[in-house]
Amino acid sequence: MAVPKCKKSKSKKQMRKRSHKGREIIATRPCPQCGAAGQSHRVCSACGYYAGRQVLTVEAAD
Ligand SMILES: [Zn+2]
Repeated sequence: MAVPKCKKSKSKKQMRKRSHKGREIIATRPCPQCGAAGQSHRVCSACGYYAGRQVLTVEAAD
């Protein structure tokens, strides 16, 4: 098994850790019912539909 020749410094370790900071991107897709952007496999926050049926009653914001 290959073994690192030198111990990575605290600085290098932190640089590696921080390179992943803020990488989380939530993928969205348009709702099949209303077309609003939202996550797949989640109830639509705009119309309250999931799997082709109303599961939440959403009050109109305006
Ligand atoms: Zn919707």
